[in-house]
Amino acid sequence: MTASPDIVQVALPLPLMQVFSYRLPPEWREAVRPGCRVLVPFGRRHLTGVVVPEPPPDPLPSPLKPILDILDDTPALTDELLQLTRWMADYYVCGWGEVIRAALPPGLEIESRRRLYPGHPPAEPPGERAAAVLRFVAEHPGTTIRRLRQELRFASYALLHRLVARGWLQLEESLEPPRVQIKKEQHVRFAPAYRTPAAQEAVLEKLRGARQRALVTALQALRLEGVSEPTRAELLARADASPATLRRLVELGVLELVEKEVIRSPLEAEPVPEAAPVTFHPEQQAALERITEAIEARRFETFLLHGVTGSGKTEVYIAALKRVRAQGRTGIILVPEIALTPQTVRRFRAHFGDEVAVLHSRMSNGERYDTWRQLRSGRYPIVIGPRSAVLAPLANLGLIVVDEEHERSYKQFNPAPRYHARDVAVYRAYLNGAVCVLGSATPSLESYLNARSGKYTLLEMRRRAPAVGRTPARLPSVRLVDLRHTRLVNGNPLAPPLARAIAQRLERGEQVILLQNRRGFAPVLECAECGWSPHCPHCSVTLTYHKVQHQLRCHYCGYATRHPGTCRQCGAAALEPLGIGTQRVEEALRALFPEARVLRMDLDTTRGRRAHHRLLDRFARGEADILLGTQMVAKGLDFPRVTLVGVVNADTGLLLPDFRADEHTFQLLMQVAGRAGRADRPGEVLLQTRNPDHRVFRYLLRHDYVGLARELLAERRQLGYPPYARLAVVECSGPDEARVAELARSWTEHFQQVCHQHAGGHLIDTLGPTPALHERLKGRYRYHVLVKVPRRTGAPPLQPLLRQALETFPPLPRAYRLTLDIDPAGLS
Ligand code: ADP
Ligand code: ZN
Ligand code: ZN
Repeated sequence: MTASPDIVQVALPLPLMQVFSYRLPPEWREAVRPGCRVLVPFGRRHLTGVVVPEPPPDPLPSPLKPILDILDDTPALTDELLQLTRWMADYYVCGWGEVIRAALPPGLEIESRRRLYPGHPPAEPPGERAAAVLRFVAEHPGTTIRRLRQELRFASYALLHRLVARGWLQLEESLEPPRVQIKKEQHVRFAPAYRTPAAQEAVLEKLRGARQRALVTALQALRLEGVSEPTRAELLARADASPATLRRLVELGVLELVEKEVIRSPLEAEPVPEAAPVTFHPEQQAALERITEAIEARRFETFLLHGVTGSGKTEVYIAALKRVRAQGRTGIILVPEIALTPQTVRRFRAHFGDEVAVLHSRMSNGERYDTWRQLRSGRYPIVIGPRSAVLAPLANLGLIVVDEEHERSYKQFNPAPRYHARDVAVYRAYLNGAVCVLGSATPSLESYLNARSGKYTLLEMRRRAPAVGRTPARLPSVRLVDLRHTRLVNGNPLAPPLARAIAQRLERGEQVILLQNRRGFAPVLECAECGWSPHCPHCSVTLTYHKVQHQLRCHYCGYATRHPGTCRQCGAAALEPLGIGTQRVEEALRALFPEARVLRMDLDTTRGRRAHHRLLDRFARGEADILLGTQMVAKGLDFPRVTLVGVVNADTGLLLPDFRADEHTFQLLMQVAGRAGRADRPGEVLLQTRNPDHRVFRYLLRHDYVGLARELLAERRQLGYPPYARLAVVECSGPDEARVAELARSWTEHFQQVCHQHAGGHLIDTLGPTPALHERLKGRYRYHVLVKVPRRTGAPPLQPLLRQALETFPPLPRAYRLTLDIDPAGLS
């Protein structure tokens, strides 16, 4: 903000590429710095935005509207986070304000909302729909438009505007307070004149009421115990006194109330566990030395720690973080899904105690706000969390760890910014002169190629860590069960070899993990007479049968309906479940092993906030014999008594129309295989398949990640796919199919022209438009255009071209959207 101190640039949380200029009233000139949140008028609304360090445009827009209020005295975003979010907006081709919104805790925004109130009664009878709207508003005066439209989907803006124009409804703009606020609690202490024992004795003599005296004595007793300012509730409980008695003593000037901030934190209540010391094995030692050297030199460097499951990667992260903490610097630990990795959090807390904070979306808004503020102020120097934690407001970063870096959950999809947390982590480490450690047993091909080409430093750990006092646990043996030659009786999904292996473990009192990466009972119902299958009315996908509720559900939009009983097409009572979901496996297990205790873990059994922990803890305590579930059961759990891992259908992921299908299937199967046989018990893995000759299984049997990676990389190079190319998907969506297709076509032409003008055109491929794999989702049609640029020197950077094409494309009709996904996780 050089030229004119009275004009500031503000990023708003909207899908708009530009930032906006506002006038700064002179009396606030000192108070506003980049990173501060401000309240500004925007159109007819008021929005919370963030002041960004950008020069004002030339010429200035006029008239300039003024900033209405300043919401922070310390900037919410540091300069470093402003830089990082700016880079993300450029790289992912989205609004800076959208990225900033992702970096701030939710619920802080002050916004104006439009609310509806009843107007005068209609002079003529309104139509049926209008009458329903008027009735709803009469019953819920002050409803937001969004709320109304949730209830009455047909309430179009056109209809509402008509009703407002006639005066039957009133529309009012009101400023909403932020949804989260600092929580305060009242504490009690003696007023200054009564802080000495003598003064307290004197007042005890004077006080007439026994209850008043009891309160004073209770406060004295608490002070002796070291609690000089108990909370109001604590003191009243101790003295068994009423609020009125306390009020009286405050009026008399004996006691006073002070407000103190309460920090809401999900960890505060949990005890800090103890750390078990380990002696590093040579591979661990070598890896740590390389990382430490970069840390000591305060040099930016990215390491790919490629180590098999159980090789001791987590111990390396902990040791590296200790070096960083010794320098007074801070660290971020990213995990794919925090609910599934309670052990990771416990292990870091064992070493770093209450320096560790967690930050994730299952926490309440209050907890997130408080944790965020404590991170911002430096109270917590370490944070563990899923992808969004890469934007945590830590100053002085020395280390960012991305555990299981190949996991798809690091890619944000909806809403924007559609960032990849691993790539943001590497860039953030670069901004800070910090070290970034990417850990995995099966690295993404992107990271693996970067390590091979020397952009990252490759560190390898090929052997499992020795369990304390014993020889190293061996890698589990992997066997295939060929389903082509096995008849499954009565839809029982467990072939005899797998069933026998389970029976054996149950007899020996050992535990079993079963993976079936599909929830529900059966993916599809099909009519045995005519082949009809029930589909979601809003999405082009079949409905999944959930047997317990006897329901059909859409896994994309949540639509649910009762089992129709008979076929809608031919009327036959012949609807049969096809395919296998976790519920169906559970039923088969109960039939085969009625005495076994089975826990099912999938999206349907883990809705509650601590549901994952409860299930995992029960299994860890040995309260169940079999843990059955979707890919959730493959994550970082360490159960020493698990000696068998079974995969009910190992082909599930191979059939997806995605160029990463083989890579992802291998990663998932390796990971779940790693759950078998820790400590001193040998593990066994059984994979049921109809494609036993598939290359994924060939490499899996030998635990040969590198072999598969080489083969896949050669193929990707030849076909021009990532990591040898950069991809972007442009999605065009809207309610009418023909119109969506037409828009997608004209956008593609427009983009090609932009490329032709600015990049010679020839290096950029555009494929499509084609209908998306799920052509219709939530009632909207979707068409995709795939953009592909080779990643070699001399290739034009893709982002500026996409940005230019988006900015110069004519405005879209209402309800139609163009969204952009750079480095998409999959093509669906
Ligand atoms: P990874 O993160 O690679 O899966 P972990 O760090 O979780 O591996 O290590 C697996 C298990 O082995 C843990 O229980 C850990 O405490 C233990 N461990 C790791 N390194 C050693 C070592 N050098 N000596 C003994 N035990 C170790
Ligand atoms: Zn649906
Ligand atoms: Zn039929």
